[in-house]
Amino acid sequence: MVFRVFAIDHDQRESLKLRRMPKASYLNSWYAASAAPRPDHPILEGELACDVCVVGGGYTGLTAALELAERGLDVILLEAERCGWGASGRNGGQIITGYNKPMATIESWVGKDDARHLWDFGEEAKAQLAERVERHAIACDLTWGFAYAALKPRHMQDVTALEREMRDDYGYDKVRRLDRAGIRDHVRSDAYIGGLLDEGSGHLHPLNYALGLARAADAAGVRVFENSRVIALDSGSAPWVSTGRGRVRARHLILAGNAYLGGLAPGLARTIMPVATYLIATEPLGEARAKALLPTNIAVSDMNFALNYFRRSADHRLLFGGGVSYSGLDAPGLKQAMRLKMLGVYPELRDARVDYFWGGQVAITMNRMPHLGRLSPTTLFAHGYSGHGVALAGMAGRVMAEAVRGTAERFDVFARVPHMHFPGGRRFRTPALVLAMLWFRLRDLL
Ligand SMILES: Cc1cc2nc3c(=O)[nH]c(=O)nc-3n(C[C@H](O)[C@H](O)[C@H](O)COP(=O)(O)OP(=O)(O)OC[C@H]3O[C@@H](n4cnc5c(N)ncnc54)[C@H](O)[C@@H]3O)c2cc1C
Repeated sequence: MVFRVFAIDHDQRESLKLRRMPKASYLNSWYAASAAPRPDHPILEGELACDVCVVGGGYTGLTAALELAERGLDVILLEAERCGWGASGRNGGQIITGYNKPMATIESWVGKDDARHLWDFGEEAKAQLAERVERHAIACDLTWGFAYAALKPRHMQDVTALEREMRDDYGYDKVRRLDRAGIRDHVRSDAYIGGLLDEGSGHLHPLNYALGLARAADAAGVRVFENSRVIALDSGSAPWVSTGRGRVRARHLILAGNAYLGGLAPGLARTIMPVATYLIATEPLGEARAKALLPTNIAVSDMNFALNYFRRSADHRLLFGGGVSYSGLDAPGLKQAMRLKMLGVYPELRDARVDYFWGGQVAITMNRMPHLGRLSPTTLFAHGYSGHGVALAGMAGRVMAEAVRGTAERFDVFARVPHMHFPGGRRFRTPALVLAMLWFRLRDLL
């Protein structure tokens, strides 16, 4: 019998320390300030049994739990904090077509057939999100329209290649190349020389979407426990997890802790790098002023490697993201640095107060593709969406639910994507990543 117990270790303790981000914490976010009423869930006490135990209450875990419960399985979800507390409740809210890599690169890794499936899954991910929002009447300001904004001629070559690939190779007709005048119709800034408009991407209020999924999971019969951190697990043939105060026995486990899972499953921790990234929100600017910045209410991401992204909020603020910290700790002066980046795009916001500043951890993989797989025959995991998880995490939840129910074809397409470990432990991979990122940032300046 396979019997593995993973208890809390050094990496987990590190991760717990990193979660203490006082200035940029989750509670300081505009999302927390504008959150829908939260469903309350108890703390796990004592011993319970179920078909599937899901660890983590972000988009991945909530969607997996929901899809399983809707098909009649008995599901328990354990969340260390509150549902939506992780990246799912803090992110830029941008729903982005495809993956963090061009499809041509993905084809070179997995071949044309699997690449086609992966493209289709990316499209299904967006459709699934829209369908969930509608079916569960989730009030999360879902809006369609997005643009990649080009800062330099090199970016325009990328725009041309991206449009050609999406239209000609994948039959995606929702993208349109924009010249300097064209991007100004959508983004009233002198910073950009063109871009790629994607009417099939969009944005939403990420925390309210997560809370809506949590309410839907409750309604579908998922037993959700919050403030219930899993500190040990056995992924053998009779799996269980323990929170210290409680224990769950299940036929299957799904690990959906992503960047916040820490060292609970050390083999998994090595395939992702948690990177802290930040957003600011201005004061409410008034409808006319906010519309003057982004007349068509699209979400925007520039095309630098160390990218900036922004959008309007429903209450007419500008939400602006982009600062990163590879050590995971808040760098001093980051809020001010973020404001200066925003002023680089919109100098007219010089007099606008910044009301909120917050951050969270995004999990990146070496190849920037989502990492799905089996820790053992009874235990599945998904993480590392590398900045594309608003849509893709739900799809990962769906294919894990399918695999648990015995249909693993789609899960296995993801699982066949080759992944590598980050070299060294956390202590060594962080400096290596910082050096790599420095190189890319220097390239951004060219
Ligand atoms: C600041 C920021 C901006 C981003 N912007 C975008 C964007 O604009 N577009 C985009 O597509 N993606 C973006 N992302 C990434 C996106 O948010 C994530 O890919 C996505 O939310 C991942 O969802 P998840 O459910 O896998 O992980 P999470 O939402 O992080 O959920 C994991 C949950 O697991 C819980 N957990 C961890 N360990 C345990 C344990 N041992 N026991 C119990 N529970 C545990 C955590 O508390 C957490 O709530 C951004 C991320 C950040 C941080």
